[in-house]
Amino acid sequence: MYGLTLGKRYLLPGIDYQVTPGSGSIEGKYKIRRISERDLLQSKRYDRLMQQHFQGQVVQLCYRQQYADSLRNRLSNFKQRAKAAAYIVPAFDKLTWHISTKPLYYSEIQLKSTYFAQTNSDIQLKIDAEYLQNYETRNVVGYISGAVVPDSFVVFTAHYDHLGRMGSDVYIPGANDNASGIAMLLNLAKHYSQHKPYYTVLFIAFSGEELGLLGSKHYVHNAPFDLKKIKFLVNTDIVGTGNEGITVVNATEFPHQFQHLQQINQRQQYLPLIKQRGKAANSDHHWFYERQVPCFFIYTMGGIKAYHDIYDRAGTLPLSHFVPLCRLLIDFADGLAPRDE
Ligand SMILES: [Zn+2]
Repeated sequence: MYGLTLGKRYLLPGIDYQVTPGSGSIEGKYKIRRISERDLLQSKRYDRLMQQHFQGQVVQLCYRQQYADSLRNRLSNFKQRAKAAAYIVPAFDKLTWHISTKPLYYSEIQLKSTYFAQTNSDIQLKIDAEYLQNYETRNVVGYISGAVVPDSFVVFTAHYDHLGRMGSDVYIPGANDNASGIAMLLNLAKHYSQHKPYYTVLFIAFSGEELGLLGSKHYVHNAPFDLKKIKFLVNTDIVGTGNEGITVVNATEFPHQFQHLQQINQRQQYLPLIKQRGKAANSDHHWFYERQVPCFFIYTMGGIKAYHDIYDRAGTLPLSHFVPLCRLLIDFADGLAPRDE
């Protein structure tokens, strides 16, 4: 539950503002106390600010985007010292939501910076936050046994969790991130159920990715088989576009396999571009890579830019290169088997 009224205007959650993940609860009408950019930037003014009392107040921290990085420490120290009931901070560009494993000791709203000049009025706030401790969730695993070498694995992974809801009205659907990756997994499972693979093909749908790659971390640390048995692993996360091709994380770490991927694409013309990228701890392949499992993380480029917001919907996701990408992954996986058996 949440609500924000500025003067007479009721602002729309998910569009005009969002609640900072981990925010505490608050309810009531408050006068807004504005802290100017100068107060934050100039050391003497900032020192004076640190001496003042803000308990029980709603404090609006005004600063422009170009100072967001350099003010990070000061803002954090100020919040620690001020102990205000709530903070209003500017959201620049688009609203991008995430989730948190840690509760904050204050409430906070990220307000579109276009509304920042209009906060000369009272603010009415209502946030009911609940911190779920020890929330239990699950990874989902399936496999299709290899016809020739069943005790070696080709692994396809994708995370099935996303951000869920911010209150009762705002839903962050995650069509691209990562229903698209899970759809890819299901397509691949369907294919291999009809075409017996050489090695066993394992499908892992991870939970807890958005909270910090928690599902894949758990899996790797409690692996039900020797991870050395993995011939190759491909993680798909955000694969619903592709008119500008794909990016392959770990391409430079596994140049031989990357070359194999490119050769298939050159022959079949599945995708307009395959871009190489180095290692990056930005999705579920990460923990496997840390354990020396050869792996790629693939995402598509171009198309709709919705990300961690209410606009990442199935209805507007083009899926323009979904089938060609699926073909590419099948050819790649099948090519891992030795030739001329
Ligand atoms: Zn994702």
